[in-house]
Amino acid sequence: MPACRVLFGAGSIDRLPDEVKRLGATRAVVISMPSEIRFAEDAAARLGEMSAGVYAGVVAQHVPVEMLRDAREYARKLGADCYVVVGGGSTVGVGKGLALETGLPIVAVPTTYAGSEMTPIYGLTEDGIKKTGRDRKVMPKAVIYDVNLTLSLPPRIAGPSGINALAHCVEAMYAEDANPIVSLLAEEGIRALARALPIVVREPGNVAARSDAQYGAWLGGTALGSVGMSIHHKLCHTLGGSFNLPHAETHTVVLPHATAYNRAAAPAAMARIAAALGAADAAQGIYDLIGTLGAPRALKDIGMPGDGLDHAADLATKNPYYNPRPIERAGIRELLENAYNGTRP
Ligand code: NAD
Repeated sequence: MPACRVLFGAGSIDRLPDEVKRLGATRAVVISMPSEIRFAEDAAARLGEMSAGVYAGVVAQHVPVEMLRDAREYARKLGADCYVVVGGGSTVGVGKGLALETGLPIVAVPTTYAGSEMTPIYGLTEDGIKKTGRDRKVMPKAVIYDVNLTLSLPPRIAGPSGINALAHCVEAMYAEDANPIVSLLAEEGIRALARALPIVVREPGNVAARSDAQYGAWLGGTALGSVGMSIHHKLCHTLGGSFNLPHAETHTVVLPHATAYNRAAAPAAMARIAAALGAADAAQGIYDLIGTLGAPRALKDIGMPGDGLDHAADLATKNPYYNPRPIERAGIRELLENAYNGTRP
């Protein structure tokens, strides 16, 4: 299970300087997307003399190596000895790419529900090809979950981002290396996200629900960092990489169908997932939750070309990997067809 310091709760960003100091760092560079620069500048101001500067050049998704080079050069010139990443999975991903090369520590301040801050998994894109790997070096040394930094996350991003966290929990429940402790965390994550997300999209300023969603995201990230994932993550990786589909939305559309694919093969896990959702059936419960959130339910609505389904099925069945139900080309093709159309699972 990932081991790092975690600070949780409204106002926990106040502890950022102490966390940086605890790591022995004296020149932290704060990294963000241009859209989250206000958070980054606030973090830099809190760090005072320990701030080396702000790099707000992160671009969404998949960490292109050109941008990483730019960020690394900027941080090197500033003499940075620590990366403070403030943002969603894309920003955390940049910190991980830098830490992989330099070994410098990361303090993560997540502002979405992607959960990357709790995993040793990194991803980089070079010449259009996304490479992923695991390395303990990229695991943040401290994570600050301050709900106040998530209040501006609009419902159209918060909903799919929350389902991304749910996907980590769902696949942890039937992982090849599932264990009772991680299952407990994942089940609790499902419960927290299912109760919080409908409130978050309905009342974006509801601090208690936002905090609950962040708690679910923390559990989801912990589950993702602890046990192996299966068909759902494989499909999302394939669709995102080959068709450039948006990350959280792809997870959102595919999850009910990947869950349905495994329905009969993992009955005990499905029963626990359904119970945590407060539904009779896991796949249908997820599909209904997504509907409540007003989030996308069909691949055709998020940029998937209909003539790409065969290629996607080929890619997702090319290399063997663990899944509770054996990977069958015809079944995967059918799953993709259903996800493309947004059919009820
Ligand atoms: P993201 O980081 O690209 O953010 C999505 C959008 O949300 C952006 O437009 C951003 O500007 C906006 N945003 C973020 N915080 C905001 C806030 N507080 N208020 C308003 N807007 C805000 O997307 P994401 O879904 O968080 O992360 C996706 C990326 O993370 C993908 O590249 C994925 O591969 C990676 N990821 C990696 C892991 C891992 O373990 N390595 C896990 C999950 C996701």
